[in-house]
Amino acid sequence: MALFPVPAFADFTENNLLAIFYHELGHAVIDQMQVSIFGQEEDAADALSILLIDALYDNERAEAMAYDSAALFLAESQSTPAFWDTHGPDAQRFYNTVCLFYGANPDAREAFAQEFDLPVERAETCEDEYALAVDSWNAVLDEMSEDAGFSGALILRAQGAMPVLAREITALNAEFKWPRNIVVKVMPCDEANAFYDLETQSTTMCSELTGWLSGIAEAEGWN
Ligand SMILES: [Zn+2]
Repeated sequence: MALFPVPAFADFTENNLLAIFYHELGHAVIDQMQVSIFGQEEDAADALSILLIDALYDNERAEAMAYDSAALFLAESQSTPAFWDTHGPDAQRFYNTVCLFYGANPDAREAFAQEFDLPVERAETCEDEYALAVDSWNAVLDEMSEDAGFSGALILRAQGAMPVLAREITALNAEFKWPRNIVVKVMPCDEANAFYDLETQSTTMCSELTGWLSGIAEAEGWN
């Protein structure tokens, strides 16, 4: 896969909007490509998010994105917020995220694992965990590669501003094709949430996510 262009400005909010979007695309791919999931679909979607971050960006940007994604799960695991999507405990998602990103390149990412206190016993299995995730996801992504014969694309319908998504969708459409068009809605939903709707086969990114994420960054002093 080609490396994505690095936006001139990226921060905690933008990095997590992308990580959340990739997670939701995981649900969309599982539905559209009829992927068999062994285990929790939420874990598989989180794994795709990390895998795309690792594959689509250069190491420095990928590390910043994985860092911010893990930091969000860590912050969430320490509070009782209204969090996005339905999923396992945030502490578990935090360790899965750190482990998979570390496992993608253990030699270069020891400091990353240490910074997040990844337990040594868990760290030992991360390379295998990543290899497993890559095996299953890459087979599906290969089927969706540009020359695979599908002609569907992601179609952005934005009522609220989330400029990072427009850039991202253009880049993703150059890499992957879908069995049908998948509408991506950016709209107010009265909550900071994101979801893939099986009935309409569309993905929704609630416009409240932006303010919610920048509020967390502000509260944690990350901006
Ligand atoms: Zn989910």
